[in-house]
Amino acid sequence: MTDTRPVLKPWIEQIHAYVPGRSKGAGGRELVKLSANENPLGCSPLAAAARAELPSPDRYPDPDSAALREKIAAVHGLDPARVVCGTGSGELLHCAVQAYAGPGDEVLFSRYAFSLYPLLAQKVGAVPVMAEAADYAASVDNLLAAVTQRTRVVLLDNPNNPTGTFLPAAEVARLHAALAPDVLLVVDQAYAEYLEPGDDDGGLALAQAHENVIVSRTFSKAYGLAGDRVGWATGAPGIVDALNRLRGAFNVPMTAQLAAMAALDDPAFVRASREHNSAERARFVAVMEGLSNHGLRVLPSEGNFVLVLFEGALDAAAALDGLADAGYAVRHLPGQGLPHGLRITIGTAQDMDAIAETLRRLAEQAA
Ligand code: PMP
Repeated sequence: MTDTRPVLKPWIEQIHAYVPGRSKGAGGRELVKLSANENPLGCSPLAAAARAELPSPDRYPDPDSAALREKIAAVHGLDPARVVCGTGSGELLHCAVQAYAGPGDEVLFSRYAFSLYPLLAQKVGAVPVMAEAADYAASVDNLLAAVTQRTRVVLLDNPNNPTGTFLPAAEVARLHAALAPDVLLVVDQAYAEYLEPGDDDGGLALAQAHENVIVSRTFSKAYGLAGDRVGWATGAPGIVDALNRLRGAFNVPMTAQLAAMAALDDPAFVRASREHNSAERARFVAVMEGLSNHGLRVLPSEGNFVLVLFEGALDAAAALDGLADAGYAVRHLPGQGLPHGLRITIGTAQDMDAIAETLRRLAEQAA
């Protein structure tokens, strides 16, 4: 008997759509959106000006993002032939998994890693395998213990979203050194620009020196260009070639290419974003530490967000509602094994004061 409608592949059947951070509260009320790790300072004025000079929309963009790749390579000391641009780094992560894993293969990552990772594995029919974390951080020992003959790709977001935890270079190198050369290590550095100067997980050096490492970066976070959808990746020529074959043909709109290039001309904006983030994050963490007697715990974060754990009378769901009442959308991730946590993007000083004050009030009321 023939089917009466197209038949979904069985591995697609199990996938649910990626759930992004939202800005709406009850009844569709618009809230201050601190749920998607966007930049509260916006983007560089140079990038904004470049966007305003819209190239003619009747023409396709440069399919190879050549000028942007040249600029990225110059800024980071890379070979432009080893850089590939994507529709956000998300497209490139997808291509990397698609290129090296398929049905029956395993794609390994840590518990509490980026919520897109299991979907990337499922999309290609591979099995997502989650290694246990160690106090919410990726553990190299646990990742290595979970490697099997079928492991084809290991995904590591560093700093890690949503916990903010960071693996130093020695740990990333230890992970890489213990992997077989035919296993691809993806170091997802979406939040790298927020690291303190001198903090480096060594991913770019590994990606230059080895055939089985790729690093991905994005313009969505510290560069403040999330709406433009532009990211990049670098690795060995064979990997970059595979990503070029799999990515969309005209995958980065011309406005996004121009904005990203202009953004690279303004390192002062990125520095200011990092300094704002570090200062406000430290201030917020200090207030949360003062609420530890109410069971609030904040994980050490190197990103532009913090994960607050609610281990006392005030639970995360109630805190989520209370923050929405105060006008703020933050991220609750019960589906990721974090029913007791809220991920809060670092916003303006005023936003962080209001959030801290609201949490203090809610914690005291719940006690
Ligand atoms: N990696 C991580 C760890 C992220 O948190 C995100 C965005 N939430 C991305 C990759 C993807 O970002 P984009 O596609 O905007 O570059």
